[in-house]
Amino acid sequence: MKRFAKYFTQQEPIPEPAIARAVEIMRTGRLHRYNIAPGEESEVSALEREFADYQGARYCLACASGGYALHIALRAAGLEPGEPVLANAYTLAPVPGAIHNAGGVPVLVEVDADYHVDLDDLAAKAVRSRSRFLLLSHMRGHVADMDAVTALCRDHGITLIEDCAHTMGARWRGRLSGSFGVIACFSAQTYKHVNAGEGGLLTTDNAIVAARAIVHSGSYMLYDRHGAAPDESVFRRIRLETPNYSGRMDNLRAALLRPQIAALSTNCARWTHLYEVLEAGLARLPGLRLPKRVAHEAFVGSSIQFQVTDLELSRIPTLLAAAAERGVELKWFGDDEPKGFTSRFDSWRYLGDLPDLPQTRAVLSRTCDMRIPLTFTEADCRLIVDVIAEALAEIGATTTTA
Ligand SMILES: *Cc1c(COP(=O)(O)O)cnc(C)c1O
Repeated sequence: MKRFAKYFTQQEPIPEPAIARAVEIMRTGRLHRYNIAPGEESEVSALEREFADYQGARYCLACASGGYALHIALRAAGLEPGEPVLANAYTLAPVPGAIHNAGGVPVLVEVDADYHVDLDDLAAKAVRSRSRFLLLSHMRGHVADMDAVTALCRDHGITLIEDCAHTMGARWRGRLSGSFGVIACFSAQTYKHVNAGEGGLLTTDNAIVAARAIVHSGSYMLYDRHGAAPDESVFRRIRLETPNYSGRMDNLRAALLRPQIAALSTNCARWTHLYEVLEAGLARLPGLRLPKRVAHEAFVGSSIQFQVTDLELSRIPTLLAAAAERGVELKWFGDDEPKGFTSRFDSWRYLGDLPDLPQTRAVLSRTCDMRIPLTFTEADCRLIVDVIAEALAEIGATTTTA
């Protein structure tokens, strides 16, 4: 029996220069982002400048988490209590949670077999709900047709907010993910593309949105200590009308992140290389369908999804068990019971009675999901393919066409 022995949750170490800088900061005791010596720029402020540069965005705010960034993005964009927010239904729990936290009501939209938002359903629900917001989650790095999405938003007067938790560093037609919407939100949580344990980044070119987001994040009246913020005059217009929802980033996390932002392009290429090895191998196995990728989607392959097409649904857990026995940890979006990080729209019951989404349910019912940490090698990816082939063979999937 083949066996894979590495951990799917093991990320690479924090780069040494980041560790050295973090230690240096601890020696100063100045961990709070607004605690600066005369003439000093805080680490968080420097991170904001550098990430704004990377994204080609005018403004950037570093904050407590990706989910927090989504929450204040909606607030800063002007969401009123009870307002509908369009969102693709294939996403993770922090997305509906952020809408709920911001006082919005999610209007979940179907996804297609390649995990992109269904443009027809989006158009229909945009008309019906009259929502002013689309929170588009580029879930697991699958970037929808952004020409079509942005045109639709323009036609319906919808503000696009991009959830780039899985697309930091990805491009569509050469443009960075996060540069299509009015606001983009990123996560620096351990399992995303940069690792500070926790952390979020929000970018925008809109001065009012940026100023509101900064005051929301807990800047008090210290907003001039931000590296990528609008002018004082913009803050004067909003600062007394904007509540403080305290959720700042601290200097230690920023120190961990700065060298990782610098290494992002290299790391994205490494991820995608590993993805391509897995994709090529898995696509050859019977009964598996890999999502179609278009040439102008420069995705970051930090995870892989595939659909098990030729197996009865009730036997998918057997496949997962056979893979797990060999050390390969697959998640399944078809499970009625949410497990680990994985959940489906029908497990967010606090949203009340949601209309069913048969297309999304059908796609997710056959979708397996696997992380690709950068601690894996090309040889590891080949072994994982062999393990999944063996697991399929063991349960007789190769001969079944249920
Ligand atoms: C992780 C994640 C988030 C939220 O990020 P946190 O930093 O964990 O709050 C949002 N959306 C998606 C799709 C994610 O995977």
